[in-house]
Formats: sequence, structure tokens, C-alpha cells
Amino acid sequence: MRAGTVGLQAARVAVAVLMHVWICAGALANETASATRASLSGDQHRTTFQLDLSLGVPAEIYTLANPYRVVIDLPDVEFRLPDGTGQNGSGLVRAFRYGLFAEKKARVVLDTTGPVRIERAAMTAAAQGKGIVFAFDMVTTDPASFGVGTGAAKAAEDPAAAPPAATQEPQKPKSHGKPVIMIDPGHGGIDGGAVSASSLLEKDVVLAVGKELGRQLTSTGRYDVHMTRSSDVFVSLDQRLGLSSKQGVDLFISLHADSLSAENGAQTVRGATIYTLSERASDEQARRMAEKENASDLVAGLNVADSEGDDEVKSILFDLMKRETANFSADFSNALVRKLKAATPLAREPQRAAAFKVLKQTHAPSVLVELGYLSNPEDEKLLNSPPWRKKIAGSITAAIDSYFSRRTAGSTGP
Ligand SMILES: [Zn+2]
Repeated sequence: MRAGTVGLQAARVAVAVLMHVWICAGALANETASATRASLSGDQHRTTFQLDLSLGVPAEIYTLANPYRVVIDLPDVEFRLPDGTGQNGSGLVRAFRYGLFAEKKARVVLDTTGPVRIERAAMTAAAQGKGIVFAFDMVTTDPASFGVGTGAAKAAEDPAAAPPAATQEPQKPKSHGKPVIMIDPGHGGIDGGAVSASSLLEKDVVLAVGKELGRQLTSTGRYDVHMTRSSDVFVSLDQRLGLSSKQGVDLFISLHADSLSAENGAQTVRGATIYTLSERASDEQARRMAEKENASDLVAGLNVADSEGDDEVKSILFDLMKRETANFSADFSNALVRKLKAATPLAREPQRAAAFKVLKQTHAPSVLVELGYLSNPEDEKLLNSPPWRKKIAGSITAAIDSYFSRRTAGSTGP
């Protein structure tokens, strides 16, 4: 068999020639492939991406615009790459990230400086005969011949094809009558979210707090608790909304941790902030925050431009959202501020509002909690501390108790 390279013209390409050989090898050994090194080389005209793998796997490469990205879809690959891999770009690549995109689906997303064409994609045996080298070149191209949208269908269908990531925290059957609560740890898998100076990832912090909150809420016996994700897997914003409406939740709590750049006060700004939904942001910082969090799907290589057409529909839905639901969200936000105060520092303006996509629920009161700032050294220490995570989960549980006891008592009802 010719182990040469495959010349590629189209923007979306399946690297298939050598593939099945390696797949068989992997299948026989019943092993999961691991990636041990990822690197960039070359210049602004031609940049080579290389991924060292323990086994050959089927890979699919395609490009997306708005912003320009190259997406590589792989099966269940375990990434064992050194910390910080991908943070610094080179040549035509500004940065890249990697991780699970869905159960048993891995993805690498490269942010490119402009439109690129993929060439010479190949999976070949490593020179020393150990492992596989997956590599391809990116060369500059003009927007017209870029083949915009070539990868769109694939990228758009992926999240729908992925199995729902929600898991019912208690193994008991759903008990009717109990308030249903959806805990939504932000980001996950390929989307790491914000990063601290010591490489602490937002996705890991919010998953740990989310699980702890799930445990505490479940142990009260008063709630039916669900999570949008309970492992390190990517869940799209639409999936999160879908899971919430499918479960008919009574309260939706999205967990995040913010990060600021040096010029925006990375060292000094700290504390928790609670966001509720509003088409008009309460202030510039809230607007930027929503923009950042809404970019999660872009980060993971979804073609968000594709779904922009239904923005109008979403906005109509939003208009139809009962004023009551918004009032309940505000009530819960108030309860949270009261309870969180005792557990953690709050931001100077702890209650803000902006157009967070994940809060666009038509029926459920919802809040998004930024637990603190990964860019602030003191906050980072807290966010990384298991006792603090217990404490903050305890305060959120107390706020939920307070909120539902008031609702049951009818004091805030119509
Ligand atoms: Zn976030």
C-alpha cells in the first residue's frame, strides 16, 4: 500500500487511505488511542499541524468560517498533552484546543489567522516505528475559494447526534411533586472555558462545584436533581436548553467562573456575580460576559452562523416568556445574594443582567452564577479549594431552600 500523502482540494476531507489498517490494529488490541504530542511548524504561508498518536484512528478535517477555524474530528482519543499545549499559536494558527466533544468523540479546533486550505493530510507510521503521526498542512487561500460552509452541515449535526449528556443524579425514579432542578456546569470537553495563571480550568471548577451541589441537594430529599453534564464532555448551549425543557425544570442554575485580562483588572477584580436574563445588558461588563459565554459553541467548533437564522424565533419566544418567570429569576437571584454573602466575597455589583443564551428558557426561572475570577489569585485559591466548594454549594442549597419555601408559601406568587 502506498503510504504517501493524500492531496486535498476540498475544505472538508476524510483522511481515509491508510485509515482502516490502523483502525483494525486498534480494534484488535481493544485499546483507546492516546495523543501524546501536538505541534505546529512552518510559517504564515504554510503551517503544519502534527499530532502524535499511539494508534491510527479515522480522522475528519474540515474548515469553518466566522471565525476561521479548522476542525478535526476523531473517535475516543485520550489527550495526554503537556499543560499549555495549544495556547500559543504559530504561523497560520493563532491557538488550538482539544478535548472530548461528545461521548467517545474527540475534537481538535485550530483558530486560524484567515481562510486556509488543507493539504497533504496523512496518517503515517512514526519514524522510529512507534505510534502514528497524523499531520496536515494549512496554506493561505482567499475567502472566495475557502469553501465556506463546507463543514457546516457536519458541524451543525454533531451535537444533535450526540447522546444527551444529562444524567439523573439520584438513581431513584423521578418523584413527581418535588421541584425539578437542573444544574448546568458550563463548558466541558473541548471547551475549557476560562484559565487561571496556574492552568486551573473553569470547566473543572464548575463541574466539581456542580457535582457537590447535586449531592447536597439530593441529600435533602426535597428535590429532583438533574445535571446538563456530569463528566468532562462538551454540551452545546442548545442541548443545555433542550435538556432543561425536556425535564420541565422548576429552576435552572448555570455555573461559571470568570477571568479578566490584565488591563481589565485581573489582579484586583474578584468575587461572585449572579446574572439573570435580559436582552439589554445591565452594563458593559455584563454584555462582554454574555458574549464570552455565548461563544462556547464557537470554541467547540460548531458553526454558529448556521443557527443565526432562528434568532428571530428565539427573540419572539423570549418576548413571550412570562413576566412571572423573570420575576422568579430575580427572586432567586436575591436569595442567592443573601446566602452567598456568608460563603464567599461578592463582586462590587453582584447582581447583573445580560443576554446569556443558556438562560433563554421560556418556562424556567434561571440564573447564571459566576463563582469568582480565575484571574484573581485569591479567588483562584478559593475556586481550587474543596472545602470552599462544599461551602459555596451549601449556600446555593440554602438559597434554593429559601426560594422554594417562599414559593410554596405563595408569598411571591401571583
Ligand atoms: Zn463560563
